Amino acid sequence: MSRRVEIHGHTVSPEHYIDGARVSSPTTFKDRSPIDGSLLAEVCRGDATTANLAISAAARAFPAWAALGPHGRAPYLRRLADLIDANVDHIAEVECWDMAMLERSLKARVIGRGARNFRAYADLACAYEERAWESNGTANRVIRHPSGPAVVITPWNAPFMLSTWKCAPALAAGSTVVLKPAEWSPLSCSMLFDLVDEAGFPPGVFNLVQGMGEEVGAALTTDRRVRRLSFTGSPETARLIGRAAADNIVPFTAELGGKNPFIVFADADLDAAAAKAALQYDDAGQVCLSGTRLLIDEAIVDDFLVRFHANVDAQVLGDPHDEATTISPLIHPEHLARVAGFVDRARRNGDEIVRGGKQPELGGNWYEQTLIRPRSNNSEVVQHEIFGPVLTLQTFASEEEAIELANSTEYGLSGILFTSNAKRAERVGRAVRAGTLWVNCFLVRDLTAPFGGAGISGIGREGGDYALDFYSDLKTLQILDGTVS
Ligand code: NAD
Repeated sequence: MSRRVEIHGHTVSPEHYIDGARVSSPTTFKDRSPIDGSLLAEVCRGDATTANLAISAAARAFPAWAALGPHGRAPYLRRLADLIDANVDHIAEVECWDMAMLERSLKARVIGRGARNFRAYADLACAYEERAWESNGTANRVIRHPSGPAVVITPWNAPFMLSTWKCAPALAAGSTVVLKPAEWSPLSCSMLFDLVDEAGFPPGVFNLVQGMGEEVGAALTTDRRVRRLSFTGSPETARLIGRAAADNIVPFTAELGGKNPFIVFADADLDAAAAKAALQYDDAGQVCLSGTRLLIDEAIVDDFLVRFHANVDAQVLGDPHDEATTISPLIHPEHLARVAGFVDRARRNGDEIVRGGKQPELGGNWYEQTLIRPRSNNSEVVQHEIFGPVLTLQTFASEEEAIELANSTEYGLSGILFTSNAKRAERVGRAVRAGTLWVNCFLVRDLTAPFGGAGISGIGREGGDYALDFYSDLKTLQILDGTVS
């Protein structure tokens, strides 16, 4: 009989899910709520033995899952999507306690995106048409072969949505999967596996292990039976996993951090730009795609700032369960200290703290929405991802300078541009180095578009057919014309 814990009216398993069953571990780790520090669960702490069990199960299940083909696999993904839709509130309420994203955002869009991920990939995999063409007297076709067991490792922010975003294409393409979510917010992913069980996935096809990155995470990524490694997290961890991928010659995809420019030209709708700029503090800035470097045309910076401050002043720090709250606490006291450390060093280095820069009276893991005008473009707060409610403010005098500043970090995940000039939107949109560049909008997503980062923001692309190709071994089949009938 598997163990379950009660979390504010919801029962959740703190165990792994391997080979179609809940599996325990002799040791556990404490999972605390970022909202009040309360202990939510003692979660099973996987180790090398757990990793071996999970990969063995995924390897055993692989041939039959691969043989089902996309149409045979799609019903499982669609059933899972339906079950997620039916459980959105249940999952959202637990993820709110576990990660502290606003409950109303989780209920309205974030958790439901998990269902969309499974449905979209079931449809896309079924819609694949093998490319076929004639050349050199042969008939050519491109065939997708499932590649084998995949390990998926995810970060603590938006854990349910990000994990499903990676696992859905893997499963649709015919990989079997071992998912390891982050240790600071492990619970909503565990809830996913109650639904995997209910959806009737064959044992071993979709497995969950919980635990520390350097323990069970490292054991998973170094196992030679794993044929795909898919990671979302920090560049530091990506370097470690990349080395394991190199040792075993395994394709590796990495969605990493960002230091994304938010560019506003004098010709932009300033009300819209300032309102969106203030929204970069959402989720306490713990969003990889946030436009954290405000690059503002010097001709309108004062007007922009008046509007920006008015929007930020209207934001409310508080309990993410409350309807009125707009800014939630940071995930963990350690992360809070890291964010505060960036601001303290900036202050000591002579960067100007324009607003915020300390913990509010609320205490806990909250941190004020902070705006810093750096002394130079080389300031640490401009060049390094902070992953908290901290934005920098710089001005530019020309389009060329805006592009130069935008491209002046090692990152290249996303960019946001506000202008009303179509030619400028095209020119700057093309010139800024980024995996996704939004003009006059933010976070509008089409799941079939390629998604990923340039520079140290990532390797490879997810989204649409890009992800299905990643989890496949593509084969070119060539048949000499006139030799078969
Ligand atoms: P992290 O790199 O510390 O951890 C991510 C995951 O890797 C966790 O599950 C962790 O347990 C695991 N891990 C750690 N060490 C490991 C090891 N040696 N071997 C295997 N696994 C290991 O990142 P984080 O702090 O959880 O997440 C924040 C980072 O994620 C930020 O940089 C953020 O920008 C990035 N992020 C990127 C995207 C994107 O789509 N590009 C989305 C969300 C978050």
